[in-house]
Amino acid sequence: MSKRIFLCLAHMSEDGIEQKYIQKAFDDNYVVPLGPNVNQFEEELEAYMGQGKQVVALSCGTAAVHLALIACGVGPGDEVCVQSFTFCASSHPITYLGAKPVFIGSEADTWNMDPALLEAAIKDRIATTGRKPKAIIPVALYGMPYRIGEIMEIAERYDIPVIEDAAEGFGSEYKGQKLGTFGRFGVLSFNGNKMITTSGGGALVCPDDEAASKIMWYATQAREAYPYYQHEAIGYNYRMSNICAGIGIGQMTVADAHVAHHRHIAAMYREAFAKVDGIDFHDGSIEGSNFWLNTITLSPSLNIKGQENAYSVAVQGAVGGAAGVVHGGGSLHTDCEPNANVEAMRVYLDKAGIEARPLWKPMHKQPVYAEAAVYTNGIEEDLFKCGMCLPSGPCVTDDDVRYIIEKIKEAIA
Ligand SMILES: *Cc1c(COP(=O)(O)O)cnc(C)c1O
Repeated sequence: MSKRIFLCLAHMSEDGIEQKYIQKAFDDNYVVPLGPNVNQFEEELEAYMGQGKQVVALSCGTAAVHLALIACGVGPGDEVCVQSFTFCASSHPITYLGAKPVFIGSEADTWNMDPALLEAAIKDRIATTGRKPKAIIPVALYGMPYRIGEIMEIAERYDIPVIEDAAEGFGSEYKGQKLGTFGRFGVLSFNGNKMITTSGGGALVCPDDEAASKIMWYATQAREAYPYYQHEAIGYNYRMSNICAGIGIGQMTVADAHVAHHRHIAAMYREAFAKVDGIDFHDGSIEGSNFWLNTITLSPSLNIKGQENAYSVAVQGAVGGAAGVVHGGGSLHTDCEPNANVEAMRVYLDKAGIEARPLWKPMHKQPVYAEAAVYTNGIEEDLFKCGMCLPSGPCVTDDDVRYIIEKIKEAIA
């Protein structure tokens, strides 16, 4: 097989609608971070999300997390409860603001924020610091809905705003309502590997016009109403480009098809792995996942070909190399890494032209967060050691899925 099968690659509409709207940006002479495409994309997102929400299109999902935190009043010395099992974009913006993440562990069913641990953490932070955390960030890991009913109940009881990180959960629903519309704010990402893309981009789902205007103001360098540049607060240059928004408009025409395709692939994996001892497909009991990435766990007792040599050579570059710049020359091991059979499976699939990847390494196990407070039962750490992500995107065909399943079975020693 010469073709390489990736986890989730950008996939354009069949009839080139993205290109048509990119061209429109040039025709309109709006090659700037505002314009008709941005307005149209936001309106379409508002209709898609529902619940009367206002959407502000931004340069990336990380910017959306950052601005949501600012809008929740997070500042130096404050604490924010955030799911530990996530990509770094959920927690890094907390540190941009001089605030501190309080990492919350996951529960075994959804792999997302455990509401019981969240409440224990809130109580303990109040007891030890005398202050409430300023926000709560649950994450729809791999698209799986979090226990948002219970999380909202706790958040309301303690009067703490929720920022839903639905970057991976675009199109996922909880009881028929789109993720990102339950909390005060909802974060979306349109990075090249997400459910839909604008090449790079994101959006913040806001409760009303007032909140959306404030986000828009922060996203455009916080300018006051004067005929010259007057600044009374620090702003950011976070608005989405009108060119990128053109791609977004085209992608909205395939959003439902993409979600359906990811779910279809999930069904194929689910059925296949039900018959394989030692491999579990991650489903969770809450309906509505978009299955952005399909994930499996490998029993530690499963033997994989080449396992004895796992971690014997250093990888070249970092995982998810799209962004390019990584530090080289690390050691072969860290104090928290996937089991040898998971690494052997990754290498086996890699040689067969299949990209597979470990799960996100929990943030509280990252050296950069060594000092952070954490409330966990260890579930996310256990999952990190035995789990992996499989190709799931719109470029992955049924034949690809059958080939991947065949290779995974073949890798078992
Ligand atoms: C992708 C992602 C984001 C946003 O990332 P950007 O690349 O900045 O758009 C935020 N949180 C999670 C969990 C993500 O996977």
